[in-house]
Amino acid sequence: MCSPQAMATVQRAITRRRFLGAAGSTGALAVLGGVGRPQSAALQGAATPGATPVIAPLGTPIATGCFGSVLDLTHTITPDFPVFPGSEQFQANVLVRVEQDGFYKSQLVLDEHTGTHMDAPAHFDANGPKADTLPVANFVAPLAVIDVAARAAANDDYQVTVDDILAWEAQNSALPEGAFVAMHSGWEARLATPGAFLNADAGGTLHFPGFAPDAAAFLVEERSIVGIGVDTISLDFGASTDFATHLTVLPAGKYGLENLANLSVAPPVGATLVVGGPKHLNASGGPSRVLALF
Ligand SMILES: [Zn+2]
Repeated sequence: MCSPQAMATVQRAITRRRFLGAAGSTGALAVLGGVGRPQSAALQGAATPGATPVIAPLGTPIATGCFGSVLDLTHTITPDFPVFPGSEQFQANVLVRVEQDGFYKSQLVLDEHTGTHMDAPAHFDANGPKADTLPVANFVAPLAVIDVAARAAANDDYQVTVDDILAWEAQNSALPEGAFVAMHSGWEARLATPGAFLNADAGGTLHFPGFAPDAAAFLVEERSIVGIGVDTISLDFGASTDFATHLTVLPAGKYGLENLANLSVAPPVGATLVVGGPKHLNASGGPSRVLALF
């Protein structure tokens, strides 16, 4: 069942689309989360009241009654999910079991920067907001996905450039107001091969793609964004020693999302990002449930 607010949003979107006509603004639709866009043939599991939910394979957009479809951009955290060198691996220590105790729960050992997670401004800025105090309005944003997978396949140290952003805009639309800009490098396929995701060389230097510092500065200064995200473990490319992209984005009050999943399935434009960010006290960041609605 859709809420009255959701139905009102749909009605406004339909009215607006009619007003804009065939030559209407893609950006306006993106801000509205692409309501009314045609659904992909890959969609499964349309929500029907009383129907048994369809379990779709991970990474498959799920059709819903309210928002078109929902895509999970979140990895499952496992004890062997790669963490930044020096950080402790995730552990879930089972405390009680249904069979023995009547209920089930675990205690977690968890570095804040594990799995699909947020970097709050405070992660690199002593005076920046922590994750638990970021405005929640920033957690719902038009999603722009910049696909650099072909270039990253040829260059482990690839960094998203200003030209990549301008090319995305030429192909899609001007970046919407308050956008969240994500890099799709194809790196998540490397999770299947131990060591390949962090891709350390013999000297211990990591090699994976990220945003170039000048591209980050362009987004912060020349565009309106709430944050940037990557399908690698860091906003900066792996070989960075100065973390200049973190130091550009986070002290500007923007947040980062790292280890995003399924960006290959997300549309380049027209989806709405929804971030279930962490809310423990004084969070530098933390594991987040991240969705794309389109
Ligand atoms: Zn992080």
